Amino acid sequence: MTKTIYIVGLGLIGSSLALGIRRDHPEYRIVGYNRGEQSRMIALEHGIVDEATDNLSQFAAEADMIFLCVPIQQTIRFLEELSNLPLKEGVLVTDAGSTKEAIVEAAETYLSARNIHFIGGHPMAGSHKTGAIAADVNLFENAYYILTPSRLTQADAIPRLKEVLSGLHARFVEIDAAEHDRVTSQISHFPHILASSLMNQAGDYRKDHPFTQHFAAGGFRDMTRIAESEPGMWTSILMTNRASIVERLAEFGERLKDIQQLIEAGDEEAIWQFFDQGRRIRKEMEIHKRAGVDSFYDLFINIPDQEDTILTILELLRGISVVNIRINEDNRADIHGILQITFKNKEDLERAERIIRDQTSYQVFVD
Ligand code: NAD
Repeated sequence: MTKTIYIVGLGLIGSSLALGIRRDHPEYRIVGYNRGEQSRMIALEHGIVDEATDNLSQFAAEADMIFLCVPIQQTIRFLEELSNLPLKEGVLVTDAGSTKEAIVEAAETYLSARNIHFIGGHPMAGSHKTGAIAADVNLFENAYYILTPSRLTQADAIPRLKEVLSGLHARFVEIDAAEHDRVTSQISHFPHILASSLMNQAGDYRKDHPFTQHFAAGGFRDMTRIAESEPGMWTSILMTNRASIVERLAEFGERLKDIQQLIEAGDEEAIWQFFDQGRRIRKEMEIHKRAGVDSFYDLFINIPDQEDTILTILELLRGISVVNIRINEDNRADIHGILQITFKNKEDLERAERIIRDQTSYQVFVD
């Protein structure tokens, strides 16, 4: 019997989930809710969903699985609304919210009187883009997809959900909701606060030091890229993970005081250790690997600002399978940027490195 999957919120995450589900299960009926007309129309035109509505209740009773892919606080409101709607016996409800404890608690509060399964979900991939127009079937490829079981997660619920989501090619990890929120406060929520604080500080500083506006380069850009994120989503995240985030902020305050003291004391050795430790830890963490996958191999080429450079390089590498390619801008005057080409295996990387070294004058290095 074919399943009906109900995607509530046809934004970036909801629409990308729908495409991923369809990839392995073309026989499923995928229906969608979206408040705004534009993403609803795009989702229908692009075949992301078979039918769409702006009324949550319309498909609720027909769904075997419901994915709530709206902002966190709206997810909580919809959990309450669902509790008052007729639903299929044993329906599985899940969500995509970036914080988990508040959502799991809401699900347990509103849904426990019914035969409803609930699993918290957080697909850990995204971008600054929004809406169905940004839908990407490969968005979750190799990304961690966190599942936070609840009191409403019966034994077969997680295998059922993973089976429906097999086409995402994501990496599923089960973790307690509170622990999820603690870990993400450190590696996601707090860095966002830091990035925006840096921007706000620079904004104030430039009033008296106008060159601040112009001299900011690579390092500052890398540190602050995420300050361009959507404020509504981040407000929602902070509002639902306050305790962990406040704890991270307080602890970081102590760290800043420590390094301040070292600088005041002119303790060169300790300052060196401070940077060295940061560098070592960064190398150990999975951020050095694409989406945490260690089976990728990167070649870096310093390229000049000349027409056709990239085409020439790709032509030389014809026949070698390339996983990814990107240009990292550089602020050095003599080079335009660093072309980063990712290969599947060591052999391809070594072959490519040899070709570029032998046949061009570009500087080449591997990570
Ligand atoms: P999006 O802006 O692309 O889509 C959000 C959707 O929610 C839209 O369809 C919008 O119409 C709907 N919506 C917003 N407010 C609503 C309201 N009050 N009532 C009804 N519908 C409303 O955002 P997205 O990136 O798809 O995010 C959706 C969820 O996924 C959020 O909970 C977010 O925390 C989570 N998430 C986002 C990312 C990311 O990087 N973008 C990553 C992982 C998880």
